Amino acid sequence: MKTVSSLQPQENQSCRAHRKFKQIQMPFFAPIMETNSYPAQERIMSGSGRCLCGAAKFKFERKPLWSGFCHCESCRRNCAAPVAAFFGVANEHYRWLGTPPATYKSFADVTRHFCAKCGTPMAYEAERFPGEIHFYATTLDDPADFKPKFHVHYKEPVEWLHITDDLPKYQTTSLNGNAE
Ligand SMILES: [Zn+2]
Ligand SMILES: [Zn+2]
Repeated sequence: MKTVSSLQPQENQSCRAHRKFKQIQMPFFAPIMETNSYPAQERIMSGSGRCLCGAAKFKFERKPLWSGFCHCESCRRNCAAPVAAFFGVANEHYRWLGTPPATYKSFADVTRHFCAKCGTPMAYEAERFPGEIHFYATTLDDPADFKPKFHVHYKEPVEWLHITDDLPKYQTTSLNGNAE
């Protein structure tokens, strides 16, 4: 197996900032470059996604932290959809490919990512969910990879959307609300 250092370009050893950047990035890129070095059970689900025009893409390794639906008004307006389907991935297990998405701060602590070319909503980040990004499941290259487990902000669904699944339905978030 190649070592990670052998895959890195030569650097100027006197550049401390560059070394620090490399330290941060190495675990981020290594799993994607050397997928076979991970045991099979650690690769239960990996995947990739893209926007409508294909300029913004992402790839992630490892099973998502969680998967579910959000019915909050903010997500619905952002996605122009009756509900947002999304899943969480740890920051060290994904990376953007192609043209990096643009961002919009929908609240002081919330950053939403979207393709700067075609406008497709791609992902959500919030300070109250440190260390993870929430990708919108409908951007997945294979939507069958999405395995939803719950609904959050279920007090806000649009009246004409009829949900018939048996998944737990939280009035606010799963962190601070009881499931119905
Ligand atoms: Zn696009
Ligand atoms: Zn939401």
